[in-house]
Amino acid sequence: MQFKSDIAIIGAGVVGLAVAAQVVSQSRAVYVLEKNERFGLETSSRHSGVIHSGIYYPYDSLKAKLCVEGNSLLYEICRKHGIGYKKLGKLIVANSDEEVEQLRGLQERGKRNGAKSLKMLSKREMKKLEPNVEGVAALLSPWTGIVDSHGLMQHYIARAKDGGANIVYKTKVAGIEKVADGYGVTVEEDGRKGFSFTTQVLINCAGLYCDRIAELAGIDIAKAGYKLHYCKGEYFSVGNGKNRMVERLIYPVPEPKVTGVGIHVTLDLEGRMRLGPSVEYVDSIDYSVDTRHKEAFYESARKMLPFIEYEDLEPEMAGIRPKLQGPGEDIRDFVIRDESDKGLPGFVNLIGIESPGLTSSPAIARYVARLIEGVL
Ligand SMILES: Cc1cc2nc3c(=O)[nH]c(=O)nc-3n(C[C@H](O)[C@H](O)[C@H](O)COP(=O)(O)OP(=O)(O)OC[C@H]3O[C@@H](n4cnc5c(N)ncnc54)[C@H](O)[C@@H]3O)c2cc1C
Repeated sequence: MQFKSDIAIIGAGVVGLAVAAQVVSQSRAVYVLEKNERFGLETSSRHSGVIHSGIYYPYDSLKAKLCVEGNSLLYEICRKHGIGYKKLGKLIVANSDEEVEQLRGLQERGKRNGAKSLKMLSKREMKKLEPNVEGVAALLSPWTGIVDSHGLMQHYIARAKDGGANIVYKTKVAGIEKVADGYGVTVEEDGRKGFSFTTQVLINCAGLYCDRIAELAGIDIAKAGYKLHYCKGEYFSVGNGKNRMVERLIYPVPEPKVTGVGIHVTLDLEGRMRLGPSVEYVDSIDYSVDTRHKEAFYESARKMLPFIEYEDLEPEMAGIRPKLQGPGEDIRDFVIRDESDKGLPGFVNLIGIESPGLTSSPAIARYVARLIEGVL
């Protein structure tokens, strides 16, 4: 099979699908290539499902800007298209005077980033909202919520297909070659050599494999700073009827380098409660939950949530963050760029799209659409 596409997107996770839904207006010959048999089987279904408000990220970073823009866009999309969401609000809870100072810093940073309506609460004010939470003060973020990420991906797919895009499953990109008017791409179907095609624009939304795709295109990923670190986050569900004990998402104050945002309480749209995600750098992709970590989850949760008992916790699931930030290193921003300066015009890399990637997905899509405007 030989065909020509204008835009090919590698990966049918929430980011690749959001990009497809956005760029179909620029061209009808849009293909999304996905190695799995369905969309969203990797990181896009192994997360907290939180619509973040943009508090944690360094000022002027892509993470901050795209999260704040994505927050507004996502609520609008959900309202307009009937996608499940709840604007629950979140509390970041301080347990010491030192942590209260950190909260003030977070409030300042969040405000500067554009996170809306952040408010410091005294212990009394916090207790009024969440009587079962322990702490000395809290930062309230009313614009934090949760979303049905599966419904969101289905919405992106419907928009992409309506615009004429094709989503091709069981199709793994195995080779990329620079050719005169774009890229020659070779794929494997079901593990066997499949077909080749050419595309003018190639967009790498391959999540945990995005560094390998960049390498296939001839980029020296060590030199470019694109080498990913896998960072596992496990979740434990909270049972025994405890899930009605809080109404909002409850977070601790994050550690300074924000490797994760701390083991927190998330609620899903059915009101089920879980704790997570933890932070553990790993060498390979393995989604099992280590039951020996239960004690650590219990210890970190019970300070804020004294009603939780050890027996309430059950291992639930795990996700893996595609991180550019290695262990002990400073926070790294999303990389979203056209690689013209590496001799690869029209090759757009999205690298290190960890949290808040779900929240940012509609804003990332707009950003990518602007990047490729000049190429098509
Ligand atoms: C524990 C955890 C908690 C999180 N919580 C939140 C949260 O609460 N809020 C938030 O905003 N974000 C959160 N995130 C981040 C969010 O989940 C991700 O940013 C987002 O899902 C990334 O989507 P993606 O499409 O880039 O990647 P993926 O979902 O991983 O999709 C990439 C796709 O590319 C495909 N692919 C890879 N290689 C190839 C190839 N060679 N050929 C064809 N296809 C290929 C894969 O099969 C996959 O389907 C969390 C992440 C984790 C791990």
